Amino acid sequence: MARKTQPNSGLPRLPEADAPHPGEGVQPPEVEHSRLLISRRLLDLTLSKLAARSAETRESAAIWAGTIAGEDSLATEVHFHHELCDDRGSELSLELTEEAKFRLYETLHGSGLKLVALIHTHPESWVGLSHIDQRNQVCSRIGFWSLVVPNYGRRPWDLFALGVHIRADNGWYQVPKAKIADRIIISG
Ligand SMILES: [Zn+2]
Repeated sequence: MARKTQPNSGLPRLPEADAPHPGEGVQPPEVEHSRLLISRRLLDLTLSKLAARSAETRESAAIWAGTIAGEDSLATEVHFHHELCDDRGSELSLELTEEAKFRLYETLHGSGLKLVALIHTHPESWVGLSHIDQRNQVCSRIGFWSLVVPNYGRRPWDLFALGVHIRADNGWYQVPKAKIADRIIISG
């Protein structure tokens, strides 16, 4: 979910105190060594289907499931919101219904896989987490990932243009661009 681009009114922005803020600079120790491992095939499949669903006009999203070993999360499968339910995508928002969410939890419980990451598209280059994104509790586990893809997933895809956020003790921590390649390990 993206925020609307505000025309520059010349007014100072007031701090918003009602949601946890993505970390700025300070790396929470509990996610210091967290890594997300994914195959090139699964990453490309996810990005191409998100871009197709977004079709330059609306947000789209998916969940990666997989296994967790210590600080490493390995994504092994993808579940697209629009395949789980009517995701009601719009220019700046989309939904995963509670029913769809619980069906997915049951499926994963049956297969022994864990929720690893949420990945969703934003219309433009801003890849922070909106307040709604921050509150969107698909999973509140420390070490859960939330990735934001700019420009509705349009090519060319650039790892360093992604918003890479990790759930920490005290809200979300955004991985600095320069560190993304240390955190997201693409194989194959
Ligand atoms: Zn968003």
